[in-house]
Amino acid sequence: MTSRIFAFGAATLAAGLLFLAPSGNAESGTADMAAKLAKAANIDGKDIIAEKPGDWLSYGRNYHEQRFSPLTAINTGNAAKLGAVWEFRTNTVRGLEATPLVSDGVMFVTGSWSKVWALDAKTGKELWAYDPHVPGQWARYACCDVVNRGVALWKGGVFVGTLDGRLVKLDAKTGKPLWQVNTIDKSKPYTITGAPRVVKGLVLIGNGGAEYGVRGYLSAYDADTGKLAWRFYVVPGDPSKPQESKALEKALPTWKASEKFKWWELGGGGTPWDSIVYDPETDLIYLGTGNGSPWNRHMRSPGGGDNLYLSSIVALKPATGDLAWYYQETPGENWDYTATQSLVIADLKIDGKLRKVIMHAPKNGFFYVVDRTNGKLISAKPYTTVTWAKGIDPKTGRPIENPDARYGSSPTTLMPGPIGGHNWQPMAYNPETGLVYIPVIDGTFEFTGQKPLSYEKGAWNTGNDFAAMGRAILASIKAGNPPPPVKGYIRAWNPVTQTMAWQVPMTGAWNSGMLTTAGGLLFAGGSDGIFAAYDAKTGKKLWSEDLKTGIIAPAMTYTVDDQQYVAVAAGWGGSGGLGATGDMETALQKYRTNEGRIFAFKLGGTHQIAALPPVIPRGVPKPPDEKLDSAMVTKGFNLFHRNCAVCHGVLLLSSGEVPDLRAVPPEIWGQYDAIVLDGAMESNGMASFKDILNKNDVAAIRAYVLDEAHKLYKSEHPEAKKAENKK
Ligand code: CA
Repeated sequence: MTSRIFAFGAATLAAGLLFLAPSGNAESGTADMAAKLAKAANIDGKDIIAEKPGDWLSYGRNYHEQRFSPLTAINTGNAAKLGAVWEFRTNTVRGLEATPLVSDGVMFVTGSWSKVWALDAKTGKELWAYDPHVPGQWARYACCDVVNRGVALWKGGVFVGTLDGRLVKLDAKTGKPLWQVNTIDKSKPYTITGAPRVVKGLVLIGNGGAEYGVRGYLSAYDADTGKLAWRFYVVPGDPSKPQESKALEKALPTWKASEKFKWWELGGGGTPWDSIVYDPETDLIYLGTGNGSPWNRHMRSPGGGDNLYLSSIVALKPATGDLAWYYQETPGENWDYTATQSLVIADLKIDGKLRKVIMHAPKNGFFYVVDRTNGKLISAKPYTTVTWAKGIDPKTGRPIENPDARYGSSPTTLMPGPIGGHNWQPMAYNPETGLVYIPVIDGTFEFTGQKPLSYEKGAWNTGNDFAAMGRAILASIKAGNPPPPVKGYIRAWNPVTQTMAWQVPMTGAWNSGMLTTAGGLLFAGGSDGIFAAYDAKTGKKLWSEDLKTGIIAPAMTYTVDDQQYVAVAAGWGGSGGLGATGDMETALQKYRTNEGRIFAFKLGGTHQIAALPPVIPRGVPKPPDEKLDSAMVTKGFNLFHRNCAVCHGVLLLSSGEVPDLRAVPPEIWGQYDAIVLDGAMESNGMASFKDILNKNDVAAIRAYVLDEAHKLYKSEHPEAKKAENKK
């Protein structure tokens, strides 16, 4: 499968190069195109603030990141006439999370493996392509797929962060790198999936990796030279050494190590892997920080403490990166409750007064309205089912935790789970309806502290025992009380009254980000591949189309030649596309293919969206008949849940993006050492685990998977079960 897709990619790249150098008047055509590309990317802060209606110049459209477009040509009265006008095949099979940027008729968009394309926004034709050649091995450090959320544009440069931690400036004219810098310590499992933002000539980029053991920070690089201007570390380092900032000195007493567990050795976390917002009015950068590394505070900071600045909104001064204020939403973070979810800034009339606010729906389940001039809480209410806390104390801004929330080693059911009440999929705010549109997740999770707590370099380190959690789920299924399915909704939220205006239940839990427009519309897609326009006031569905793969990226809208278009990347993936939500009724299950495509729509569009040829075989092949040692199966169960379940699913139940290991072609059973130890499938993201697993471990994992494969085969083939019973 992989080689076919890759070969295909090379062919398309060649076609793209041909397009750049057509026969005939090649020279002038190329020069014209290069000039057009350079003009498109030649923007600065004034352009981003000025909000040219037909453009989308920064990740959340402008610095405020409302994902609200003033365009009205497509509206509630005519949305039913929408149709696809072009599609662009990315020739990748992993998740697509990017928001395309459009400037002067050129689209700049990224795909999985941090690839970048410039496209003609009117036709979808490729103008150039850039592949940073991320090593497949790095997929192991990406908790949540080899995704990328987009580029930034600034003065003729196109900026992208790569999964393996580089920041690259491309020449908008050609897609060739002008400079690239390594933003991470390559000996540590850092990743970049977020879109850079450019503020006052500085390119801002964060990082991820808190599930594996890293210390998070935001870096600012000079857009012209690539020189590091400043770095804001979210959590303190080794307390025996000087801290990098006054803010960290202040944070130090909120961390309490033990002889056995030192957070600066475990990582500490706080990785700011997504939301970065600049506010020209206050001249502050607002940053959403990540969860603790590891999640479990008993391990990360055994003496307790708030562990500043985990799971916080921090306000930074753009010139220096110094802290202006902070608001910690989840003190003493313990549940993977990142605060990296989209930050939206707006002016809201609250109690008769116009307030400058940040709106935020982080993973922890509460919708926050915060004064962005000083970080003081205005209000907070749950936007999904929350059981870990009873509410937020309006006086202190702190959660009122439920007594069982700080789980020990027995499984404790809490809501939301680590996937959050809302994940990275951006919400949108429509100033005309006064509503915020949130892709909400509603589900339980069995938090289960490891016993004993143990850290393993470069491995999945959360201080949670996923094997014990799997056993708890199996026991509850056996007792006839299985965990309820995780559900997904579009919720329209009134941020002033802190109440829900309306909701749309979705097929699965893991769905797209949001786009809203002055045409009174809301655009959103789902795991089932359905992309739809809704009335932003009422939630009434006005139009939909099946894009034939799951949609997680937010849509955007733009104009070319006075014609309004809506574009969206469709490619199932992310943590929910791997094992995290257990979404089963996905477009991927239906169409058996996940080649990512970018689609554009306009009124009267007639392009037919065809299902691509299936690449994932249907059915469950007969697994080899082998007698399995039950001790090996048990050992394999434990090893699988420590090392493999994050992608392949707890109890092997994945949401389809990576192969169901129980239903693999027969030859795979003979290749476990080659794949798991020698990296035979590294190029498609199945990395080598040679540094933490040995041959005996792999044999045990294989035994567990094979045992489950037999069970699945028997359930799919009742006649096989009968034959077995006769024996
Ligand atoms: Ca996390």
